[in-house]
Amino acid sequence: MSRPRVVILGAGYAGLKTAKELCKKNVDADIVLVNKNDYHYESTQLHEVAAGTEPASKITFNIVDVIDTKKVEFIKDTVIKVEKDDKKVLLENNGELTYDYLVMALGFESETFGIPGVDEFSLPLVNIKTAEAAQAHLDKMLSNYQQSKNELDLSIVVCGAGFTSIEYLGEITNRIPKLAKTMNFPMDKVKITCIEAMPTLLPMFSEKLGQFGIDVLKKRGVTFKVGTPIKEIKENTVVYEENGDLKEVHAHTIIWTTGVKGSHVVGESGFAERRGRVMVEKDLRVEGYPDIFMIGDVSAVMDEESGRPFPTTAQIAIKQGEAAANNLARLLNNQPTEAFTFKSLGTVASIGNNVGMGQILGGKEVKGYMGSIVKKSIINKSLLDVGTAGTLLKKGRFDYYH
Ligand code: FAD
Repeated sequence: MSRPRVVILGAGYAGLKTAKELCKKNVDADIVLVNKNDYHYESTQLHEVAAGTEPASKITFNIVDVIDTKKVEFIKDTVIKVEKDDKKVLLENNGELTYDYLVMALGFESETFGIPGVDEFSLPLVNIKTAEAAQAHLDKMLSNYQQSKNELDLSIVVCGAGFTSIEYLGEITNRIPKLAKTMNFPMDKVKITCIEAMPTLLPMFSEKLGQFGIDVLKKRGVTFKVGTPIKEIKENTVVYEENGDLKEVHAHTIIWTTGVKGSHVVGESGFAERRGRVMVEKDLRVEGYPDIFMIGDVSAVMDEESGRPFPTTAQIAIKQGEAAANNLARLLNNQPTEAFTFKSLGTVASIGNNVGMGQILGGKEVKGYMGSIVKKSIINKSLLDVGTAGTLLKKGRFDYYH
């Protein structure tokens, strides 16, 4: 009898962790891991690449360097669709792949909320390519100024004031003053505007902590527009609503960070989804499909305590990868699955290299330089979780002292 085949789609935090944990458990199954690139990227650090404070090589590593290739077959390909009733996956270049068990971990995509012009006229931060494109564009605009003397070259609008946007603003406000010296543009002409639809900024943090982050960025020259929903993006223009009136802000760099949704492949494959996410059962399987696990940003897991789904984060994706591997091993050994449990270790955002803010275990708040140390430790832990000790040594953050 042939061995069962476990196919894992996506080598982000969730998928890569599943593959690594399955190897540790020595399951009697063929394991196949599919990812569109031959590298893993730390999506939590995409804002650094987009701002140009770190190169892509700092936040990426080769997948085959961190998995046991004797136990896991890696296929570099793009998943088009899952035909769940026939238990097969359609790939762009390698035809079909059948499975006995499937782990869907295809991650997130940019969410436009149907706002016109977002795809055409703004730059999202969702993968290495988009982050590098945003960095190249920003650098080009800033360097253009010397010749053009067009102040819009020095104007940047960041759409959304969530976690990603604050971290991105933290990076660019660290880097632009240095670029002003090398590219020879006047700092007093640089205009950075952040536009947010919601009435509160950084709602994931306490009011005091959120205010701390906002104050740091305001001191670095960022202007915040709050409770001002974006209605349209046009070429070099963001149209937003303020007190019932439509207003415009103009810039040659428009960054879109308002939110993300799960992979479109989920909907294409006919799963019952909302914004690319499937509400999974307690053991992370999909209702009606006991052979399919859905984890990471394509899943929604109910938090029994709050009565709401957990937020989609790298931290939870890694824990789901562990749990999915555990439940797969149990199924392969004819044992019942276990319910997924999750205790958040806290949330910390960086505001550039030396400032951070957030809440850690037990609800304790950290901010400033201490916040940045905690943030760097979190990045290092995640590198160990999905990479190896070697990955941590090569890509880790050890610039604690300054
Ligand atoms: P991903 O990390 O998105 O991985 C999905 C993988 O699937 C990728 O390798 C992708 O290339 C691959 N893939 C996608 N589509 C296909 C396809 N069709 N075929 C083949 N392969 C495919 N979370 C935190 O916990 N803390 C933070 O500080 C934090 N900061 C963030 C900062 C930024 C700028 C962003 C954008 C996100 C941040 N997040 C943070 C959220 C976190 O990055 C996500 O929740 C996490 O990446 C989800 O992990 P995942 O494994 O589900 O998906």
